[in-house]
Amino acid sequence: MSLHLVMLAASAALLVACFGGADEPATPTATPEPLPTAVFDEFAVGRPQNRVGVGDAERALARFETTRGDLIAAFREQGWFRDGLSEDESIFVERSLSFVAGHPEPSFESIHPQAVSDKLYIYDTLQLSQRKVGLLLIYEPGDDAESEFALLKAVIAQLEREVGIEWPEPIITVVNGSYGINDYDSNGFIRIDGCCKLAAFILAHELSHVYWTAGPFWFNEGMADIYATLSLQALSDDPPEPWGHFNADIDDYYAQRKSVVDSAGFPQLPLPNRFASDGLYQAADVFLLTIRDIIGADAFRDAARDIYAASDFARLNISEKRLEDIVLRYTSDSNAGAVMQLFNREVWGDNGEEYQRLKEFEGS
Ligand SMILES: [Zn+2]
Repeated sequence: MSLHLVMLAASAALLVACFGGADEPATPTATPEPLPTAVFDEFAVGRPQNRVGVGDAERALARFETTRGDLIAAFREQGWFRDGLSEDESIFVERSLSFVAGHPEPSFESIHPQAVSDKLYIYDTLQLSQRKVGLLLIYEPGDDAESEFALLKAVIAQLEREVGIEWPEPIITVVNGSYGINDYDSNGFIRIDGCCKLAAFILAHELSHVYWTAGPFWFNEGMADIYATLSLQALSDDPPEPWGHFNADIDDYYAQRKSVVDSAGFPQLPLPNRFASDGLYQAADVFLLTIRDIIGADAFRDAARDIYAASDFARLNISEKRLEDIVLRYTSDSNAGAVMQLFNREVWGDNGEEYQRLKEFEGS
C-alpha cells in the first residue's frame, strides 16, 4: 500500500512538473536544441485549444453560405457590414454564424434580429496570466449588458486564479435569448436565458464549464457549482462595478446543499444513475464538498488542477476511476479509507469491488 502511494506521488509530481514548467529547460545546465516552429504548431499537447478560424468572417461567410443564408442576408443589409468590417465586427459576424450553426433552429431563434441590425454586442479583451483572451456578449434590446459584461469579465479572471491553469479558450461568446435553458457548449458558446442575465451564480456556473466539461456529467456539474461559488466568494471583497457583495460562501453553500440532500427524500442512487429530479446536482455538490472537507481545501484545489491537467485542456475525457486515482494522490493515508468509502457508496454503488476490478484490469 505505501509503495503504491509513493509511486502515485511520483507520477503526480511528474504531471505537475510537466504542466508547471513546460517552458523551462529539463535541467539548469542543458540547453535544448530549439524545435522547428512547425512542431509547436502541430503538437499542442499541454496547450490551450487552438480554435482555427475564430474571428475570420470571410471564412465563416463562405462556410455557412448554404445553411445560414437567413443570417448572412441580414448581415449584408447592414450599413456597418457593407462599409467593411472592423476587427470586432469580424469577430461578431464569425461567432454569430458559428453559434447559430450549432443549433438546428432557424438562426433568428438563436439570435435576436436586433442584435444584428443594431449591433447589440460588447467585445473586449482581458489580459490573463499567459495571454490576452476575448469576451463577446451578444444581447437583446433592453438588457443591462454593461453590468452582465462586467461580471463575466471579473469571473473569467477569478476562475483562472481558482483553477491555477491558463484559461483554455481564446474567445468566449455569451448569447442572451429565450432559450428556456442556460448552457455551455465546448466550442466556447454560452447561452443565457431571459431569467438569468444578471444572475451572478448562473453566469459564473456556465463560465466554470469552460474548465469543467471533460469528466462525467455529475462531476462537471458539481465542479461548475463549486468553482462558481469559490469565484464569487473571492470577488465579494472587490466586486466589479456596478455589482455589490455576492452572497457566496463555500461553507454556507455546503451546509445548504447538505440540508437539502438530507431532507428532500431523494432516492439513494449512485451519482452516475441520478437524473436532476433525483437530486443529481445537490448530491454531486455534497459528494465533492465532502471530499474537500475530508482532504482539505488546498489538497482539493491541487487535485482539481491535476484532474483538469489530465484532460489536456478537455481533449480527453476523464473517467470515474481516474478521478478517484487523482483524488487519492492528494489524500493522506489516514483519510484514504473515508474517501474510498465515499466513492464506493456515491459513485460505484458497491463496497469497493468495481474500483478494485478496474485497478486489476489496468494493472495499477
Ligand atoms: Zn452546468
